[in-house]
Amino acid sequence: MCEYRSSMSRGRGHEVDRVNDVNPSVFAADFKETPYWWDAAPPDVVEPAAPPPRADVAIVGAGITGLNAALVLARAGRNVVVLDAGDLGHGASTRNAGYVGRSLKHSFGELMARHGAAYAVAVYREMQAAFDSVVARVRDEEIACGFKICGRLVLAKAKRQYDDLARELELRKTHLGSDFTMLPRSSVRDEIASDLYCGAALIPDLGAIHPGLYHRGLRERAAAAGAILIGRTPVERIAPVAGGGFDVATPQGTTRARDVLVATNGYSGSLWPWLRRRLIPFDAYMIATEPLAPALMNRLLPTDRTYIDHVHDIISMRRSPDGTRILFLWRTGTRPTGARDKGAQLWADAARIVPEIATLKISHSWTGRCAGTFDLWPHIVRHDGIHFAGGYCFAGVPMGTYLGAKAAHRILGNADGATVFAERDFPTMPFHAGNPWFVPAVMKWYGLRDRWASR
Ligand SMILES: Cc1cc2nc3c(=O)[nH]c(=O)nc-3n(C[C@H](O)[C@H](O)[C@H](O)COP(=O)(O)OP(=O)(O)OC[C@H]3O[C@@H](n4cnc5c(N)ncnc54)[C@H](O)[C@@H]3O)c2cc1C
Repeated sequence: MCEYRSSMSRGRGHEVDRVNDVNPSVFAADFKETPYWWDAAPPDVVEPAAPPPRADVAIVGAGITGLNAALVLARAGRNVVVLDAGDLGHGASTRNAGYVGRSLKHSFGELMARHGAAYAVAVYREMQAAFDSVVARVRDEEIACGFKICGRLVLAKAKRQYDDLARELELRKTHLGSDFTMLPRSSVRDEIASDLYCGAALIPDLGAIHPGLYHRGLRERAAAAGAILIGRTPVERIAPVAGGGFDVATPQGTTRARDVLVATNGYSGSLWPWLRRRLIPFDAYMIATEPLAPALMNRLLPTDRTYIDHVHDIISMRRSPDGTRILFLWRTGTRPTGARDKGAQLWADAARIVPEIATLKISHSWTGRCAGTFDLWPHIVRHDGIHFAGGYCFAGVPMGTYLGAKAAHRILGNADGATVFAERDFPTMPFHAGNPWFVPAVMKWYGLRDRWASR
């Protein structure tokens, strides 16, 4: 069996450093190039530390996936060590938009046509279970992270998109009982101050969280349950040991663990070449505006939902959990150009959707790294004895919570580890060694498709 080595250095930054010549009036005086979420819940800045010489389970990566697994395993009485290359909270789990949904890149209609209704129902029931796992985690662990069921508005620019959306949601209602309401153009203005959209679907039971506070809550609960969390300590090698288990090597020392879970998603690096050939890392970008007067906020996003444009290249907008700022995400998968550059572009994009955003300044602009897969499915696998969960294709808040726990149950060997996501092959592409050079081109193609569909 081979060894797995990492070239990842501590805290490999993607805080972009090129400051360009963009209009300075767009930026608030206290502009930051760090996630808005870190104002309330910064990552735990820790010193590198030696891992314990032995553990039942070593988890690589302290994001939502790794921490949910650690919590379940520690509660089941296992000695768990969680190792992260960066500060605790360095990864995408504290950088995302905080949408809690049931999103899969394969529609219910597509799954039904390809595999039959029973399979589509089984998959989408698990999407619901993933959503429910966040609700349960927040409730049972009493994590104060602004979780709320606010409803999601899926916006359509063209009649064709609107009809597609209605058909898909009608199928889900018939087979799963999921609720939705289609809103005509005349009602969209009651939801968002934009004239771009010809209609929308309101899905009332989806939610949102403050991802920084959610992650901090998970860190605290996992540590309280007995898991050892170590930051700034990259795993450089995972080597099988004769007779069972693995040596998990870091610059600070080695842990011998019976089981290993790799939960590194978009930050996976070269630690495990088999995994690297199967993941497609890509960057996503967000901005936050400075605080708005309540009257202005009530005019721009009066109903306080999460909003997405019904496109392949996702555009999303929401209020901050305290209701004071607008958060906006787009340009996923485009090349990093610098936080100011990207922030100014996103600001202009947001103002094309809601024109009054042009009167606001940006307080934060940041990026985070996700991972897609070649078949656009999330995956949970055991390969060469090592466990992995990830490749969530932008839905890691529910899927990381859910599959992190599933991975723990699989390690414990109990029936709760069963999931439809473990039953699929995990494909790669010939010649793909991990460099995602094709992502900008693919995103451009998605953008063209979106523009065509919204004509
Ligand atoms: C801007 C943005 C917006 C998003 N919006 C949403 C959203 O609204 N809703 C949603 O559901 N999802 C969203 N996502 C996706 C979601 O954030 C991720 O899918 C999820 O956080 C993945 O969690 P994770 O625990 O698997 O990985 P991460 O949180 O990325 O953690 C992986 C960790 O592994 C560590 N690591 C890597 N290599 C090593 C090594 N060799 N040794 C030790 N540690 C290592 C990294 O330092 C990192 O901390 C968004 C993502 C981004 C970037």
